Amino acid sequence: MNKTEEEGREKAEIIHQRLLDKFGMPVWRVPLPAMDELVSTILSQNTNDVNRDKAFDSLRARFPTWEEVRDAPTDEVIEAVRIAGLANQKGPRIQNVLSQITEETGGLSLEFLKTYAPQDAMDWLLRFKGVGPKTASIVLVFSLGLPAFPVDTHVHRVSGRLGLRPEKMTADQAHGYLASLFKPENFGPDHMNIIRLGREICHARKPECDLCPLQDVCEYYRNIT
Ligand code: SF4
Repeated sequence: MNKTEEEGREKAEIIHQRLLDKFGMPVWRVPLPAMDELVSTILSQNTNDVNRDKAFDSLRARFPTWEEVRDAPTDEVIEAVRIAGLANQKGPRIQNVLSQITEETGGLSLEFLKTYAPQDAMDWLLRFKGVGPKTASIVLVFSLGLPAFPVDTHVHRVSGRLGLRPEKMTADQAHGYLASLFKPENFGPDHMNIIRLGREICHARKPECDLCPLQDVCEYYRNIT
């Protein structure tokens, strides 16, 4: 391990502990079966959690099984998920993913991925159009119990300000990088607590550094004081 990696891991451990002290141990919303989580996360792209959940519930109310969603007229699927936004993209995308998974596995369950090595499970999911590293990581860590560190817009922004990752690193690239710094058993809670910090304190426009427990390890804060 080189010095930069060692410093990064030490900083990640401080962040882990301070955010636990501030926010407590976060609880993921009711864990969903992996197939449900995959669809829910596709719906969540570019919208908020409330509309994601409304769209998911509307889809399931109209089509109680994934087979029915897969085989439904596309315009009805689009209508069912409209509240999530980008419905013309998300509806067909969900149906395509369901069709491809059926073709490849003969069914619509992703539970078999639990037996895969984490990177193999990630690679398997990443082959589907509309499934990027964030979506695949969420399915892995929250539904399959496999280690992965999802990087959304909050995690990307906050980790950049903290100097936890190279400044120009993209969100997609940051998945593997941040996973190398945090402890695998903490990936889920650390992901959620960093999002909470991003939503409540480290806002995109104007971070409220006075309320933040990470001032002394933050490069952004060091540069403004
Ligand atoms: S000190 Fe400020 S910029 Fe740094 S993580 Fe906290 S809120 Fe964000």
